[in-house]
Amino acid sequence: MAVKSADPQARHEESVITAERINRFGLLARRVTAASAREPITVSYPVTGETIGNVPRCDEQDLRSAARRARASQKEWARRSIAQRARVLLRFHDLVLRRQSEGLDIIQLENGKSRVQAFEEIMATATAARYYARSARSHLRQRRRGGAMPVLTSTRELRKPRGLVGFIVPWNYPLTLGITDALAAIMAGNAVLIKPDHQTPFSTLWAVELLEQAGLPPDVATVVTGDGAELGPPIVECVDFLMFTGSTRVGKLVAAQAGERLLECSMELGGKNAMLVLADASLRRVIDGALVGTFSNAGQLCIAMERIYVHSSLHDVFVQRLAERAAELRIGGGLDWSKDVGPLISRQQLERVNAHVEDAVEKGATVRAGGRARPDIGPLFYEPTVLANVTSEMRCFGEETFGPVVSVYPFDDEDEAIDLINDGPYGLNASVWTRDTGRGRRIAERIDAGTVNVNEPYAAAFGSTDAPMGGMKQSGVGRRHGAYGIQKYTEPQTIAVQRLLPVTPPMHWDGKVYATALSAGLRLMRRTPGLR
Ligand code: NAD
Repeated sequence: MAVKSADPQARHEESVITAERINRFGLLARRVTAASAREPITVSYPVTGETIGNVPRCDEQDLRSAARRARASQKEWARRSIAQRARVLLRFHDLVLRRQSEGLDIIQLENGKSRVQAFEEIMATATAARYYARSARSHLRQRRRGGAMPVLTSTRELRKPRGLVGFIVPWNYPLTLGITDALAAIMAGNAVLIKPDHQTPFSTLWAVELLEQAGLPPDVATVVTGDGAELGPPIVECVDFLMFTGSTRVGKLVAAQAGERLLECSMELGGKNAMLVLADASLRRVIDGALVGTFSNAGQLCIAMERIYVHSSLHDVFVQRLAERAAELRIGGGLDWSKDVGPLISRQQLERVNAHVEDAVEKGATVRAGGRARPDIGPLFYEPTVLANVTSEMRCFGEETFGPVVSVYPFDDEDEAIDLINDGPYGLNASVWTRDTGRGRRIAERIDAGTVNVNEPYAAAFGSTDAPMGGMKQSGVGRRHGAYGIQKYTEPQTIAVQRLLPVTPPMHWDGKVYATALSAGLRLMRRTPGLR
């Protein structure tokens, strides 16, 4: 049964908000426990603005009791072997793939992105589950370390779970960012407390439901929903480690609060990512890559390209073809596979995109494609936009737009282009295009970004879950993925056992004799090859 919408723009999309789906969202919302009887948070379908469900507006007390429940469940979970925990993640992997159709619907209904881009989230989630299930043993195993004195000291390094790990998550990749980092923490034996963005809570709730169906004990993964500014400070107070993904502005606020109690955190923040197109690049491949790299999720992707530097021999034809192809992208909503670009998430995002484009145009930029909102399609749509003649006085030159807007610049001197890419406060992702991949790698090494993709905009590096992913400079602190992406959720502990002779002499020993003997020992160690 279709639910009627008051918005005439929405009429063509009415059928996707069915009573069955609304009931399903209601069931997912019940996974959040809130004692307070506050006005709930309304979640809407960005394509039309229709309501799809409500979630509790948790207060500080709700959050603290969720943290207590999660903590109480952690000890038993940490006692399970790595193999037992891995089985839960692998069953979760299978459920995510088997139930992907429902997952895609949920992501699309709360975020608005196209179905193929929602599938990227299913893929990233399954991949992270498989990767950490299969690799945790090697990342977390006890390691023998060089002792204070060879033979006499036997030293091992252990990794203990932190306890309760907090996650503050944005709306743009509600499933991937809502659960994949938490999977690593869970695999390491922690309980997790996740606060999704208030606009997109259901993908995380769905993932936690699947995790429990896969055998995760109740409360090991606990979700609180509510206002970020209200719940942020008590999360910082309650947890033993914090993973924050969001804007650099809020990341700095949260890091300052965490600093007050010396809470360690990992942060994945904003970017102003650049693409570098060398003269020998394949134009066909680079245009395809630029379209995906700039307009995926309507540009609301932290690792999306917002600046493209093109060798002047290709620049004019590049801009023309990119503009033509951008104008052909299929904008719209719906839960089928037919659209390329969905809406922005909110009025605030739309205003930001509008403001950046208007500012650029006023200061002399040329709009080569797009450049306007599309209220005829839905309240939050904006056309894929290609700008040329952008200068450093314009907001879109250095500020993150986080929308479907890209600026293209010509270059002649490769060194100058690299300097421009490295200029500014961010260092998240970059992309280099050339037929000579060796040269591509060498240029990549000169770029100050946490990930650099050669002949791909972002997915090659992000999808390499075995390798670290994150930002340099103000784009982040720490990394997700790879060994670091799970080891950060543990406390290293060193256990050293001393045999036969002590390292420090008993008080009654002759200190001079001891120092002479030890000095001889140190000289011998220095001469022994391979001894560290
Ligand atoms: P945001 O910083 O406004 O919000 C992110 C999260 O922080 C949300 O859950 C929000 O509720 C919460 N929050 C808001 N105010 C808070 C406060 N005072 N204390 C604690 N938590 C608070 O970011 P956004 O607008 O939702 O997301 C877009 C930004 O996130 C962009 O800058 C984008 O580049 C960045 N991002 C980065 C990555 C990455 O991996 N580097 C991934 C996705 C998004």
